[in-house]
Amino acid sequence: MSNHFLDTKIEFLKGVGPKRAEMLNKELGIFTFGQLLNYYPFRYIDKSKVYKISDINSDETYIQLKGKITQIETLGERRGKRLVATLKDETGEIELIWFKGIKWLASSILLRQEYIVYGQPSKYRNQFNIAHPELDVVDQSLIANQVTLEAVYPTTELLSKLGLNSKGVHKIQKNLIPQIGGQLNETLPFELLDRLKLISKEEAVINVHQPVNEQLLQKARYRLKFEELFFLQLNMLRQKVIKRETIKGAAFNKVGDYFNQFFNDNLPFDLTGAQKRVLKEIRADIGHGNHMNRLLQGDVGSGKTIVALMSVLIAIDNGYQSCIMAPTEILANQHYEGITELLKGIDLNVKLLTGSSKTAERKEIHKQLENGELDILIGTHALIEDKVKFQNLGFVVIDEQHRFGVQQRSKLWRKGKQFPPHVLVMTATPIPRTLAMTFYGDLDVSVIDELPPGRKDIKTIHRFDSSRLKVFGFIEEEVKKGRQIYIVYPLIKESEKMDYKDLMDGYESIIRRFPRPQYQISIVHGQMKPKDKDFEMQRFVKGETQIMVATTVIEVGVNVPNASVMVVESAERFGLSQLHQLRGRVGRGAEQSYCILMTGNKLGADGKLRMDTMVKTNDGFEISEVDLKLRGPGDLQGTQQSGLLNLNIADLVRDRQILQYARDIAVEILKEDPNLELDKNHRLVVTLKLLFGSKVNWSRIS
Ligand code: ADP
Ligand code: MG
Repeated sequence: MSNHFLDTKIEFLKGVGPKRAEMLNKELGIFTFGQLLNYYPFRYIDKSKVYKISDINSDETYIQLKGKITQIETLGERRGKRLVATLKDETGEIELIWFKGIKWLASSILLRQEYIVYGQPSKYRNQFNIAHPELDVVDQSLIANQVTLEAVYPTTELLSKLGLNSKGVHKIQKNLIPQIGGQLNETLPFELLDRLKLISKEEAVINVHQPVNEQLLQKARYRLKFEELFFLQLNMLRQKVIKRETIKGAAFNKVGDYFNQFFNDNLPFDLTGAQKRVLKEIRADIGHGNHMNRLLQGDVGSGKTIVALMSVLIAIDNGYQSCIMAPTEILANQHYEGITELLKGIDLNVKLLTGSSKTAERKEIHKQLENGELDILIGTHALIEDKVKFQNLGFVVIDEQHRFGVQQRSKLWRKGKQFPPHVLVMTATPIPRTLAMTFYGDLDVSVIDELPPGRKDIKTIHRFDSSRLKVFGFIEEEVKKGRQIYIVYPLIKESEKMDYKDLMDGYESIIRRFPRPQYQISIVHGQMKPKDKDFEMQRFVKGETQIMVATTVIEVGVNVPNASVMVVESAERFGLSQLHQLRGRVGRGAEQSYCILMTGNKLGADGKLRMDTMVKTNDGFEISEVDLKLRGPGDLQGTQQSGLLNLNIADLVRDRQILQYARDIAVEILKEDPNLELDKNHRLVVTLKLLFGSKVNWSRIS
């Protein structure tokens, strides 16, 4: 569908021309009128609010001042060269400083002229100043027009050189907007606009560039954010509907002997309410010939394994094989041992396949997989290899999902024969709801939000390095009680020499404090051979050593119920989710457990917030929300590859409520009209095609 106005080349806009057009193409990817209209301001100057110089008291926000320049001078040499002007109003003076464009500014700023100055104050030697402020001659026409909000656009140095700084962009937008006159197509159904009280697309676009007033600006931004998030969600959910209709899975419609025998004879405890609920969700998926693609989120220790195992038993009851994949050998081993133990007395064939499996063993496993003798295969990446062929793979469990990519997931998919196997992905790194919604929109999400009964909350304490002796004293007491201790050092990059030295220095001082033979100490780090690592790990698991000095290699999944203290050295260097993972290594037994976060005495605001959050809460979801606020979605695991972060106006952190709302509305629409066939939804189909057309299989949408 073409739109003559929106598709007009940008060079034909008044004030642009070929040279600027070329630069707009190159720098901002703007080729057409429509693309310029989609280029939104990132800020607004409130022309109605003028600060008094004496009222400036924070350096956080942009402010507007009005006054006269009483002095201008160029100071410094070469790189230190700067232009300093003094602005004076009736309450005081402030310095304005420029490091660039000095010559031009020095000749164009007029003494005793009244200026509007716009910028962000900062404090230097107890005085506020403003670096690189914008200067404007007090403009009577703006005041007369009562335009109080002026758009500020992001732009680039090269564009600025051609006069397209923020003001320049503002000017060309001003030439374009009066031409719109009814030519911007509405993208949402009128019925929806009416019901949700959204303003029209055209009114929104006009007001986002040239707000009539604050209220309309808010409405405009809301409408555009809603629209952006809504179509993302609608597209994603629509893909899910298509998948559900086209990709079928094996129907596991009976619960048979294996499941029942396990449930009646072997289940060592009552399931928690959350575990029961999730099992129901899984059964509803796999029971009816749909294909399951489910993400199971649950904090460390919430009991995901048993849920996975019981699902696997249903698969076996229906004549299918299963596999369970873990990110490390240690974890695969632990799963193998734990599951073998849980299945004691039940006639099932369970095997372990990892990088260190012997050739003969491997051959036997391959054979048993292909002739169907093997029921459950547990292992590492080794499971993905092409040589590993199943007779009848029906269910795949992937533990600690963030270490596996989507590609690896799909490789397992293809190991199914008639149907792709059902997939259960488990993660102990809770993802904030909004992100899960966006990044795992194609997965269904289950949550175990309840810990098994009787768990004692881990006590978390923040200590400065200066009180290390006390901490050592505490460790000694715990060891005397028969407990085991982790002491973890940051080794962010395994290759970093400094970190390695810290670890070894720490190890030596611990050995001095806790000498052999009274104490036994293990050490594990990434530069050790896997065999040696495993050996040391096993010594600790078996209780032969009391203290484990390690790097984050022990982060994921390791289970030593007798370990009751986790000491994290240089805790300020860890991210929140990592700290939470580490803490999850303790608190697995009946004893009171502790997590001690050691930091230097000087902590930044960010580091302080991380420590405080850890001390305050054990709830992984709460922690992930703080993490998201601190780091933004770009740094969270698994989000990097996603183009979903290139949003034009919405912000996944700040606009989470709009996101939730947009998703709810999309769900509601698809519930009523899964294939978007109703007349009233026609506009949605048109817009979806326009936005995602090339990337989507539209054969099922007319
Ligand atoms: P995670 O979710 O971290 O993988 P696990 O599945 O390893 O957690 O379970 C942690 C521990 O809790 C295990 O020792 C397991 O046997 C125990 N557990 C799981 N579910 C329950 C329950 N409903 N009641 C009591 N203990 C449970
Ligand atoms: Mg686990």
